[in-house]
Amino acid sequence: MLRRAGDVSPFADRFDRVRARMVELDVEVLCLSVGADLPWLCGYEAMPLERLTMLVVPVDGSATLVVPGLEAPRVTERPELFALRPWTETEDPVAIVADLVGPAVSVAVGDRTWARFVLDLQAALPSSQFVRSSSVTEALRAVKDDHEIAALAAAAVAADQVATQLQQGDVVLVGRTEADISADLGRRLVDEGHQRVNFAIVAAGANAASPHHEPGARVVGPDEVVLCDFGATMVDDNGVGYCSDITRCVWTGTPPSEVAEVYGVLAAAQQAAFDAVAPGVAASVVDRAARDVISAAGFGDRFVHRTGHGIGVEEHEEPYVVDGNDAPLVVGNAFSIEPGIYLPGRYGFRLEDIVVAVEGGGRRLNEVDRSLAVR
Ligand code: ZN
Ligand code: ZN
Ligand code: ZN
Repeated sequence: MLRRAGDVSPFADRFDRVRARMVELDVEVLCLSVGADLPWLCGYEAMPLERLTMLVVPVDGSATLVVPGLEAPRVTERPELFALRPWTETEDPVAIVADLVGPAVSVAVGDRTWARFVLDLQAALPSSQFVRSSSVTEALRAVKDDHEIAALAAAAVAADQVATQLQQGDVVLVGRTEADISADLGRRLVDEGHQRVNFAIVAAGANAASPHHEPGARVVGPDEVVLCDFGATMVDDNGVGYCSDITRCVWTGTPPSEVAEVYGVLAAAQQAAFDAVAPGVAASVVDRAARDVISAAGFGDRFVHRTGHGIGVEEHEEPYVVDGNDAPLVVGNAFSIEPGIYLPGRYGFRLEDIVVAVEGGGRRLNEVDRSLAVR
């Protein structure tokens, strides 16, 4: 029988790793609802609705996906991994979950589970202790398997296409509002194969000195920076969405030499951080590599955020590339490297790629030109 790529499920391996981690942590049952843990583990994403969806995974014994009956047809069934328990409009899903959890003492519940369900579950299971699911899943999700690297790479290629269109002038800048350009970038991310736009920051001139500027009515003029930081989710052939995230800057005109120098410092910092990436190297060392270059040029206090964040089914996850995170990188970690220099009242720059730790170093998933594009 022929197998398509999507039939080679990575989920069985994830269930095995999750259960091994549950043993380590003495967690008896894992309960996942809305949020990224659920699709990462089993390929199904819960709808964020008032009707409870919850996957109940005992450390030993078979898992059950409790799902509103009307949503059951959306589930790709994987009977070797979990049974389906659709509930009808007159049933109490919390009681069904409590029944499946049984006398378990230690229950891990999804970090993003709505409080109304957590509180009801706690009331229904008065002798259980609840911990966050991230204690089980976070470290596992931070190490991407080959399926995930391929999915992140595909999303990065699509984001690179949009960045190229931006750099080459296909995206008109001068005379348009930040909000209009942002919407344009979002449409292009979808055109290139993403399903869901997560954000498209467009910050012109002095607005670029605010790292998370909300694109607004500001019209882009000549001779200024346009900082564009955009990302979206692309669903892979297993039905799980993976994120892209890239930042590139354009100067509308010829940048003054001082501007070009500042950008040069930033580009050198980004390169230094990338060069520092290797398995066994602490994430904090990668952060320090970027920060040292920027500090040496006198802009240390103008680099106001961490160097990067992990990325996967969520835009921001472990490992964080930040001072204090001394955990060594391992092969399969995927994260952004995005130093910035922000000069309040004037302009700001950020340069961001997604990088994967591979044997002996780093691999950039974004390959689009890193210089300050001039339009
Ligand atoms: Zn950010
Ligand atoms: Zn970004
Ligand atoms: Zn980012």
